[in-house]
Amino acid sequence: MDHYIWERDFDSQIEELDVPDEWSFSVDNNLLRAQSGYVLYTQHTYGGFCCSSCRRVWNSAEIQILFAVTLKKWQRCGTVKMRIYRQRCKKCKTRIMEQPQISRVNINIVIANLVKMIGKRFYNQDDGKQTKAPVIYSKVKDGPHEKEHCEACQLGICKNPKAQETSVAEVVTAVSAIALIGLGTLAALLSNK
Ligand SMILES: [Zn+2]
Ligand SMILES: [Zn+2]
Repeated sequence: MDHYIWERDFDSQIEELDVPDEWSFSVDNNLLRAQSGYVLYTQHTYGGFCCSSCRRVWNSAEIQILFAVTLKKWQRCGTVKMRIYRQRCKKCKTRIMEQPQISRVNINIVIANLVKMIGKRFYNQDDGKQTKAPVIYSKVKDGPHEKEHCEACQLGICKNPKAQETSVAEVVTAVSAIALIGLGTLAALLSNK
């Protein structure tokens, strides 16, 4: 995964928000939900995976992304940490969790939703626009969501409706609403074929 694309996209979109604080963005592959002083925010997006063992490829519209966001008002310094949850091939017995490939368009959408949340939550800015759902490039579904192959499920943060025994109560309410809008749109897309 190219961290640079995410960082650059964030930098340019946060600049458009025109706020008095300096914001930084980083990828943290060990990010956990227990982050005191941080606002937790989740999104899902669409992308593709390739098994490094058998070379099978699959797509998922349920790639989970966790953000931990904080603003230190006194230092005028905002921080965003991001973790993209991986998935495992279901055809082979390998335990390798694979990183997804996510399109530039979907990276842009994820960052736009994140920046929108920051504007709303930390600066009371609301453009009144809806949160955007990811672009789904294929109608081929990869079968039901399987908990044992999804890193987010294993860590109890997956928002997939078929993986819902896990508690998502700790995640801020606004975020849950955003995720639900996204899933609703996805459901509509899938039932349209
Ligand atoms: Zn495989
Ligand atoms: Zn899952």
